[in-house]
Amino acid sequence: MELSRLTAHELLEKIRNKEITSEQIHSDLNKKIEELDPKVKAYVRTSHTLNPEPSVNLKGIPVSIKDNICTEGYHTECCSKILAGFNPPYNATVINRIIASGNSFLGLKCNMDEFAFGSSTENSCFGPTHNPWNLECVPGGSSGGSAAAVAADEAIWALGTDTGGSIRQPASFCGVVGLKPTYGRVSRFGLIAFASSLDQIGPLTKDVRDAALLMNIISGYDANDSTSVNTPVPDYTKDLINDIKGMRVGIPKEYFVKGLDPEVKAAVEEAISKLKSLGAQFKEVSLPHTEYAVPVYYIIATAEASSNLARFDAVQYGLREDQKSLIDMYKKTRQLGFGDEAKRRILLGTFALSHGYYDAYYLRAQKVRTLIKQDFDNVFKDFDCIITPTSPTPAFKIGEKTDDPLKMYLSDIYTISVNLAGIPAISVPCGFTKKGLPVGLQILSQHFNEGALLRLAYTYEQNTGWHKIKLKL
Ligand code: GLN
Repeated sequence: MELSRLTAHELLEKIRNKEITSEQIHSDLNKKIEELDPKVKAYVRTSHTLNPEPSVNLKGIPVSIKDNICTEGYHTECCSKILAGFNPPYNATVINRIIASGNSFLGLKCNMDEFAFGSSTENSCFGPTHNPWNLECVPGGSSGGSAAAVAADEAIWALGTDTGGSIRQPASFCGVVGLKPTYGRVSRFGLIAFASSLDQIGPLTKDVRDAALLMNIISGYDANDSTSVNTPVPDYTKDLINDIKGMRVGIPKEYFVKGLDPEVKAAVEEAISKLKSLGAQFKEVSLPHTEYAVPVYYIIATAEASSNLARFDAVQYGLREDQKSLIDMYKKTRQLGFGDEAKRRILLGTFALSHGYYDAYYLRAQKVRTLIKQDFDNVFKDFDCIITPTSPTPAFKIGEKTDDPLKMYLSDIYTISVNLAGIPAISVPCGFTKKGLPVGLQILSQHFNEGALLRLAYTYEQNTGWHKIKLKL
């Protein structure tokens, strides 16, 4: 039996029954990576085939980790030249929690867009990851490496990060489950910041049960993160109930408009009919400020990013280009170290924060952000969940959108509002296009109500079985 094909909960059961050992899982996984990763390139390695590093400790189930989450003694470079060779002196809190739970992390790190800037994993200094369902297509981004690894059975489960959709959109492109927790639910300590008021770490898994299990491990208050919230962590597996009778679900009319691919629309509508037949009550709702989400996000996220990236000065971390003066050293290092998208965001963000423009852009965007959050608060007064497509299109071809940043930015149109509001959301597989590319269904709920979306997602999954369709590579 190929252990790498199984879910974490199936493997845990086998370990408990003493049918297998953790070492077997690790060695099976490493074999799979050696076989497939030269094609998929889900992991960060210049030479993908040779000798993947052994896992840190061969315990429990290994979790594959995105390259922006600090792993002590293991390179953490955010797929940016500017962090070349950076070896964090400490673990992110999520890593310590994984180890404390009796599991381990895989020594290899997952590919991503540089500093999580992107929707396709094409902005990595290591080159793009390929979508396992069609190697000519992108896996989505920025957690494309994590999603592709899970889809190709090169990972049992993985962690990604989501600032504007970077867990959910790649999950939908790769046909896996991706959950973005409530802001403050999971510690950001040791996550290299992109936009601190939006970033969250979350699971990418083969099914909903694994997402709940990984949430149990990584969630909870952390004194090292001042934005982590001190509310008790429920046992998320208790929400895996195959029953949604009477659940009230809203369908936002602003999400089913021009630009939505007809095959994606059809798959999501079919999912809605299925959920109706299972007893959920649907009603159209309105999120009137939806049209401002993308511009608001690209002002706030770039403003925060430009400030967060100021620390990469050639002194403390990574790359250093020695020059005659200190200023020249800063300049040269940043010029060579950052890729085009990082530079674009530093320029945009610095502009939005500069004197004379701050009020017109940044402050205004913050006000509209509040309106977007209030839209959700209003709907959740009467509804448990909201359902939308995860992405307006299935996976696109590598290179198709690289010359047009605006087009690329629009691929996050359905995921971004969630981060602006700080609420949780999950993407689950809900079908395939005629060309065999996966489609994702997004479920949203109120702050700290991950339970409701897990229940809906679980019921849908158990009654459809899309997650069981495996690709042949
Ligand atoms: N694609 C969005 C961006 O480029 C979101 C990225 C993310 O969630 N990290 O900003």
